Amino acid sequence: MAVRWLAEIGADDIETVGGKGASLGELTSAGLPVPPAFIVTAGTYREFIENAGIADEIHEAVDVDVEDSKALARAQERASELILETPFPEELREEILEAYAEFEDGPFVAVRSSATAEDLPDASFAGQQETFLNVDREGLLERVRECWASLFTQRAIYYRKQQGFDAEEVNIAVVVQRMVDAEKSGVMFTSHPSTGDPRIIVEAAWGLGEAVVSGSVSPDNYVLDRETGRVAEETIATKKLMCVRDEESGETIEREVPEGKRTERVLDDGELAELIELGERVESHYDAPQDVEWAIAGGETYMLQSRPITTISGGDIEEADSSQMEGIADGNGQGQSGAFADRDEGDEPDEGEELVHGLGSSPGTVSGTARIVTKLDQLDKVEEGDIIITQMTTPDMVPAMKRAAGIVTDEGGMTSHAAIVSRELGVPAVVGTGNATATIEDGQHITIDGERGSVEAGAVTSDEGGEGPAEHEPIEDVRPETPVKPMTATEVKVNVSIPEAAERAAATGADGVGLLRLEHMVLSLGKTPSKYVADNGEKAYVDEIVQGIRTVADEFYPRPVRVRTLDAPTDEFRQLEGGEDEPHEHNPMLGYRGIRRSLDRPDVFEHELRAFRRLYEMGYDNVEIMFPLVNDANDVEAARRLMEEAGIDLEKRSWGVMIETPASALSIEGMAKAGIDFASFGTNDLTQYTLAVDRNNEHVADRFDELHPAVLELIGSTIETCREHGVKTSICGQAGSKPKMVQFLVNTGVSSISANIDAVRDVQHEAKRVEQKLLLDSIR
Ligand code: PEP
Ligand code: MG
Repeated sequence: MAVRWLAEIGADDIETVGGKGASLGELTSAGLPVPPAFIVTAGTYREFIENAGIADEIHEAVDVDVEDSKALARAQERASELILETPFPEELREEILEAYAEFEDGPFVAVRSSATAEDLPDASFAGQQETFLNVDREGLLERVRECWASLFTQRAIYYRKQQGFDAEEVNIAVVVQRMVDAEKSGVMFTSHPSTGDPRIIVEAAWGLGEAVVSGSVSPDNYVLDRETGRVAEETIATKKLMCVRDEESGETIEREVPEGKRTERVLDDGELAELIELGERVESHYDAPQDVEWAIAGGETYMLQSRPITTISGGDIEEADSSQMEGIADGNGQGQSGAFADRDEGDEPDEGEELVHGLGSSPGTVSGTARIVTKLDQLDKVEEGDIIITQMTTPDMVPAMKRAAGIVTDEGGMTSHAAIVSRELGVPAVVGTGNATATIEDGQHITIDGERGSVEAGAVTSDEGGEGPAEHEPIEDVRPETPVKPMTATEVKVNVSIPEAAERAAATGADGVGLLRLEHMVLSLGKTPSKYVADNGEKAYVDEIVQGIRTVADEFYPRPVRVRTLDAPTDEFRQLEGGEDEPHEHNPMLGYRGIRRSLDRPDVFEHELRAFRRLYEMGYDNVEIMFPLVNDANDVEAARRLMEEAGIDLEKRSWGVMIETPASALSIEGMAKAGIDFASFGTNDLTQYTLAVDRNNEHVADRFDELHPAVLELIGSTIETCREHGVKTSICGQAGSKPKMVQFLVNTGVSSISANIDAVRDVQHEAKRVEQKLLLDSIR
């Protein structure tokens, strides 16, 4: 049997159907209503390669020195080629298509890789494998084969070799699941997310769940008492929009809700009773409160997904099965006390004395052993719980930053690499101290306060007077926990710079990603794009971009993810292999970066655009494209032409620009006419260029004021013009996390605000408060 249906599968079948297949099977066997799916088993893949006589060739192809990047690239290419170019045996073709035919009406399906046991330990690795949405009969077999081929990405080959997995044992199953055309859908918490009270909270809207998950409509809200089964509270919202699936393309599109249904209650008592029952069953099956996505289609209630409730707290993040995130969650706790275990070794003369002072750029207080890092090859010495002291962090340092309990830099401001990445990782940081690398000694025990910006000698003393390491307070723990996120008309999104932070970002409940910076992904390849392509081929480069974006797009789907094309200054590129060819610039901030570089090198830019096209082909219709550092309509028109040449259908996609220069703010009308869908304020740059204050120069950091009237004037007039032209507006600079900026923007009519991970919840509350005040003022 090449395929197996969910009903025949249990949790023990992981070897045959992979992790994803087994968990869907487990829910189905527990009697929970999961949309039907069949699995092309792992054995089928194995038979396919063995019967075709390509198994040995594949294993030989991937048996390379994985430290040799050229050999690794060739390995991927050869293994994929062998799989993709081997025809399906007739019998197998028929068996898969016959299984598909059992869905009866030829529906769209999702085709997802489901890795077997060997691949499970590292979720980030499992996430490397392919998933395709909205696949029809015609595309099905090809997509299955592409899932198989995705076993052999460079990262996967590398990882397996490192972990000592026998390549001959590696298998992959593929889940083919019917996509549900919901009439109503939403989410449900089976218990109160923060108190655990026996109350079920349901949010519901018309159409597909995307509308609720993405926050594009205010759904009805029902609070149900589990003990009595009664509705304890309900709020019926006005639902203007709904998401439906386009019959032709299978893509999700927005439609207006017919007038008569807008204020109608979405769920009747019978449906609510069914959801209560479903909630009870799924919670008792897992013995833990669940966050469930559900849908009702043709009178049936389906469970699309269930996971343990993750309110935004350190403990919950540990629960999520990403080993990388675990590192983040306990890097501040376990590791830190580990560092203290050997505190006697160090010499700590002036306990409590301030050694250096800088900008508190990622909150939290932590103690640990200082590790001075001056060259990349010293990163190995940073152990779990150490505090990195360096001139300025670089993308290569991210793995060490994840291990660290804290970060201190000589250089940089609130929008520097160190500040951005440490905030995303939830690691306390102090930047721009001027002289930390010279003042602090390697091995010295220190305490940093990422709020006040202080770095002190020794361990902090607790309030009770007892001595000991200060517990680092994960920022999430001090956030108010509310059962349902505050519903705001202004969308509240989140910024992401490193794909590893995607899960933490999604746990905030943000309405999407307002800025995904591509440069952190690209710079972490260690080579300039041209060098990387020369060494590894274009496909490998495009694959890297696709994989990085997918990690985030998957985590947020169907919520939108706004990806910004590359924007790295030449001084950052110069540190990479191939960087010797970078021009020497007097002031890189004013130089060859952003869209001006992309337009000057369309041959390099094309690779990025190809990655976008591939993502769209794979069904990631939640990805949006944003161009950095544009000045005027000429820039926009040139970028638009290149997108069209790359085969991106602009009618279907959302694309726009960042407003980062006064010129762009003053040229907004022309850009609106050139067809942009949105404009997003990059206040880090807009402030630097308006006030002539280098954002990374600690000597003028006190003059960096995003709320300066000149900056606000540019923002305000841009919003006004955009509103006249139907262009959405947003902010994705650091200032979007500041309450004063939120107040200004909501009052001025911005469409969305994208904040740092740790600020999302506060921004939601602030936006709601301002919106309510506006409403009150209008009726008083
Ligand atoms: C900005 O300039 O505000 C911005 C968000 O972009 P970056 O910080 O990456 O330059
Ligand atoms: Mg910028």
